[in-house]
Amino acid sequence: MTTKYIFFTGGVLSSVGKGLTAAAIGRLLKECGFRVGVQKLDPYLNVDPGTMSPYQHGEVFVLDDGSETDLDLGHYERFIDVRLSKVCNVTSGQVYAEVIERERRGDYLGGTIQVIPHITNEIKKRIMMVSKATDAEIVLVEIGGTVGDIESLPFLEAIRQMRNDIGRENTAYIHLTWLPYISATGELKTKPTQHSVRELRSIGIMTDMIVARSDHPVEESLREKIALFCDVDKKAVIPLVTSQVLYEVPLILEDAGVAGILMKRLNLEKRQEPNWCEWRWLVEEVRKPKPIVNIALVGKYVELHDAYISVREALKHAALHRGVEVNISWVHSTDLEKGLNLDILEGVDGIVVPGGFGSRGVEGKIMAANYARKNKVPYLGLCLGMQAMVIEFARAALGDEKANSSEFDHATSAPVIDLMPDQHNVTNMGGTMRLGLYPCQLQSGTIAAKAYGVNEVEERHRHRFEVNNSYRGILEEHGMVMSGISPDKRLVEIAEIKDHPYMLGTQFHPEFLSRLNRPHPLFTAFMEAVCERAGVSKEV
Ligand code: GLN
Repeated sequence: MTTKYIFFTGGVLSSVGKGLTAAAIGRLLKECGFRVGVQKLDPYLNVDPGTMSPYQHGEVFVLDDGSETDLDLGHYERFIDVRLSKVCNVTSGQVYAEVIERERRGDYLGGTIQVIPHITNEIKKRIMMVSKATDAEIVLVEIGGTVGDIESLPFLEAIRQMRNDIGRENTAYIHLTWLPYISATGELKTKPTQHSVRELRSIGIMTDMIVARSDHPVEESLREKIALFCDVDKKAVIPLVTSQVLYEVPLILEDAGVAGILMKRLNLEKRQEPNWCEWRWLVEEVRKPKPIVNIALVGKYVELHDAYISVREALKHAALHRGVEVNISWVHSTDLEKGLNLDILEGVDGIVVPGGFGSRGVEGKIMAANYARKNKVPYLGLCLGMQAMVIEFARAALGDEKANSSEFDHATSAPVIDLMPDQHNVTNMGGTMRLGLYPCQLQSGTIAAKAYGVNEVEERHRHRFEVNNSYRGILEEHGMVMSGISPDKRLVEIAEIKDHPYMLGTQFHPEFLSRLNRPHPLFTAFMEAVCERAGVSKEV
């Protein structure tokens, strides 16, 4: 079939869940029997978010092929249960870099290089690459930012042109807006929505559907008003009231008939009746009151929960399957260093130390690992969290308080974590880490091998440093088990500590592969240990 494209634009303001809505609609279409691919177009000039601070951008989501992408790709993968590729996240930086490189090579034969058509053509080329790369029949394309931003104009122009290029029956436009609530009069207002639709129209894009986000129920009369003023069919004005359960969004959109409207619009027939049984059951489970387990997440970007979004989701997935609710205490690692919030660690059933870069707050993470080891509190270390666990263990094993990662102390007497040999000559910071999927062999009888139940796994990586092999022997002698090793035996991928209910660290990021209906085995095993400590008995 001809590839169909659905474009998502945002109006009024950002951060109202455009990525999540696109992900949920992707799930709807998958349930109708179609193969779905998703792409995010980001207007900023960075080539990818890999070099951006998590404070600016939230988490960097890593794909199988090692591309460092926007966190919305995490929503897409989790909701649609697909594995995406590097063509699924395009930035203005990539587009301009490519066009300028070609101009320098002389590819344009003396032409004047302009936003239209050169930049817009490059954007369209990249949009068209998704169907092949992800084997998709329907491609969802989300334009980052809000209509009216200067920097997203080339993207909007490109998607406008696509309706002409490939035809009306192959393209649909969905505009996501926000209805502000005026508490003085107790009403929702549609004016900003009207303005953003008008702005979109002035660029030449006629939206086919409006998803109106709101914190309050949207009355029929308001839908009618939006339909009338924005020139959209009333059925295609979809109210989306904020839900406490993210995974409920596909169900809300299904009940509003979104799939049917899109099928009709794109001249498609459903290939199968959607089966939401499992999804509905999971959402009901989320809602049910359950025993609570407390977990401390010790990081340095904890003010911004989006910086650890995949970790949070993976914990929730594992908790749901264990029939418990997870309450996360966000602990700033620098606070621990100052002697603050140590009491939080005392009250939790498990500790997670996620990934990170740079020395700020590292000692706090090492303190958390020390607390977990000494008090036998379940501990899960992810990338830097694993390195913190190894440093802490080495300090005790070697009797050397100076043991460290050479990332944080160049002159350390014991660089138990060191730069990987192939990283020594790297000078460029962007896209040069050990990135993406690598195999890992599990050592039988270990916690990791039991959790996974297989001999070899593939997991996603993003790091420059690793366990220093010169210290492997002595660490093992003292009770550290290298339970996951790269097939060439050069890299420690998983380490765990003997005689501890669950103290395990991974050099990779298992959180990226966790799904609502398929929690990651290492998170499941961690949750089991957490429940044991919390005294939550297993349901039979
Ligand atoms: N900074 C560490 C490294 O580069 C850990 C990276 C991470 O946690 N993703 O190895």
